[in-house]
Amino acid sequence: MLLEEMTFAEVKEYFANGNEMAIIPCGSTEQHGHHLVLGTDSFLAETFAKRLSEKTGILCVPTVSYGYAEYHKEGYSGTIGFDQDLLYTIYYSIAEQLVQMGAKKIIFVNGHGGNSYPLKRVSMNLRLHHRVMGLIIDWWSVAEQLNPAWKETGHAGKEETSAMLYLYPQYVHPERIRFEGYRSLSDTVKTLGSATFAYAGVAYHIWLNTNDVVPNFGGNYGEDPHLATVQQGKESVEAVIAHLAEFLQYGFGTMQLPSVQQ
Ligand SMILES: [Zn+2]
Repeated sequence: MLLEEMTFAEVKEYFANGNEMAIIPCGSTEQHGHHLVLGTDSFLAETFAKRLSEKTGILCVPTVSYGYAEYHKEGYSGTIGFDQDLLYTIYYSIAEQLVQMGAKKIIFVNGHGGNSYPLKRVSMNLRLHHRVMGLIIDWWSVAEQLNPAWKETGHAGKEETSAMLYLYPQYVHPERIRFEGYRSLSDTVKTLGSATFAYAGVAYHIWLNTNDVVPNFGGNYGEDPHLATVQQGKESVEAVIAHLAEFLQYGFGTMQLPSVQQ
């Protein structure tokens, strides 16, 4: 049930019939190394959202194809995004308009880790100002909880590349993969992620540019994308969709806020 393919009267009827939920796919337009295209996060968010809409009958609105990706800009052409305040306003505005139509539960199907920061604020404010629940679905987080072998440890790594190999093989260039791991910024501190550094076994967070922690503009970090397979992509994507379709109908769909305020 895609909003852009419906008439206004059909959308009106959807909410008048007691349907409370709506899906907003949250993508990003950002560098994904040499082997994946800039639209990767938007393609994945949109596919998960559309498949969920198909399976559950929940209304899905057009994808927000720009995200918070400022740290992927330095040295990488093609990355276009919004700062967190602007992105917050965009997400919140779309959600509020759906609430005005009758939605009581908003589902953000997210394709990019950087979007999580504004999304958390959106979710909280939907509750505070509208008594509406805002569910944030990070598909990679669901995948790794269903099976630790599907963990995406970084960006454009094994799991994300596998998902793209399965869903959009035409946008994957395996022969162009460059993987050199992380750059070390000190002899005493280990780089563990794009924003995670360890000293004597204790992890600390410092937010830096991709270019600071990835050598030679490789673009990807995490687990080696050479290890990606269509098989892993198929298994993880299908398992995530099956789990989420069930959760939205029989889990999230049944959740009710208490009517009495304490
Ligand atoms: Zn991505």
